[in-house]
Amino acid sequence: MPFIGCIADDFTGGTDLANNLVKSGFRTRQTIGVPVEQPGRDDDTIDAVVVALKSRSLPASEAVEAALSALAWLRQQGCEKFYFKYCSTFDSTPDGNIGPVAEALMEALGVTGTLFCPAFPATGRTVYQGHLFVGDRLLNDSGMESHPLTPMADADLVRWLGRQSRRDVGLIAYSDLSLGEAAVRARIDALIDEGKALIVTDTLDDAHLDLLARASAHLPLVTGGSGLALGLKNLSPTTATDAGRLPTAAGSAVVLAGSASRRTREQIEHAATRLPTFTIDPRRLQESFDATVDDAIRWAEPQLGPTPLLIHSDTRPEAIEAAQSQLGVEAAGALIERAMATLAERLLVLGVRQWIVAGGETSGAIVQALGITSLKIGPEIAPGVPWTHAATAQGDIHLALKSGNFGAREMFTNAWEIVR
Ligand code: ADP
Repeated sequence: MPFIGCIADDFTGGTDLANNLVKSGFRTRQTIGVPVEQPGRDDDTIDAVVVALKSRSLPASEAVEAALSALAWLRQQGCEKFYFKYCSTFDSTPDGNIGPVAEALMEALGVTGTLFCPAFPATGRTVYQGHLFVGDRLLNDSGMESHPLTPMADADLVRWLGRQSRRDVGLIAYSDLSLGEAAVRARIDALIDEGKALIVTDTLDDAHLDLLARASAHLPLVTGGSGLALGLKNLSPTTATDAGRLPTAAGSAVVLAGSASRRTREQIEHAATRLPTFTIDPRRLQESFDATVDDAIRWAEPQLGPTPLLIHSDTRPEAIEAAQSQLGVEAAGALIERAMATLAERLLVLGVRQWIVAGGETSGAIVQALGITSLKIGPEIAPGVPWTHAATAQGDIHLALKSGNFGAREMFTNAWEIVR
């Protein structure tokens, strides 16, 4: 299997893909944006690189530009096979991104056709007769029709992709899949020969992902959700255990939780009776930001060690309501993010080397504050959440970044064992 280069249209989508690649046995690194440094492939212990962009809601021309710059970098690294990753609900506007980005990548690579396989059956995203389902609902009846940025008003992907694209769209239907790998490969090639260069694929279960991955192994470019990466397991160079191996973690540990999502609240509640815990009130940050951060550091410093400390924003509903009505929703959120980022910077200098971060936006702010540009993906600690390993100016660290609603209730206390 050649070295795989992936382009993901957002950060957590990139992690999701990287996580599935590791599960399929690819040793994987994720970069945050297109790296500025241009070394050749620095490290032959990596089988796949995922460049995570922030392009999902950008106008098509800007998304194309970002994807082409990611592609150029991946080619410089020596990648020979490419994977454009978007959301399993095909999030895009009719004049939106997915078609134009795929076509631009095809042109840059000089390829004549590619697959569109958004399905991720394990999470309820399947495609039948070209129609995308979320559980038992059609996409346009799943709640996605009222998404604020990318409302999905049509579940017919052949039609939807056709509106976004210059080339014609074809379909590998369920009836084709039942004929097996060789027939599917022949059907892909026939559609491309007919000029149906953009090929949507029906996918009902994981066996279809395996089949599609094998039948499209000859294509230099595929596109899809993260599910298709699970199908690549038959083509991978190693096993999940080897692919996800990280150095052993050491150094002080903290949990920084800046999410107010329900699951994070439960995780905080569980951990607060077991770990030393410090609560940050956004209203105090507004009054005296520096003093509040100093207090947290003064509290943390003498206790730092392998037993994790928990620092979290006050997520009691009445506290959130008070902060938001006094400061405004955005300003309250931004203050907490800035506080978490500042704390992270200072804790790094104090020797913290093992981190769990809760909250998507919070994670973005902290990764930036720690100066992290890429992550080696390790073993999964919760569906969609891997341990990772990253270099910082102060030394290497282990880091788990989770969306607010991910992970078991016990995660903040239990997840450490895997990397120690
Ligand atoms: P999630 O993944 O749960 O959406 P994010 O970090 O993306 O988490 O977003 C949570 C937002 O809520 C952030 O902007 C964060 O700063 C904000 N926030 C967290 N705690 C509070 C709070 N107590 N009051 C107001 N806003 C908060």
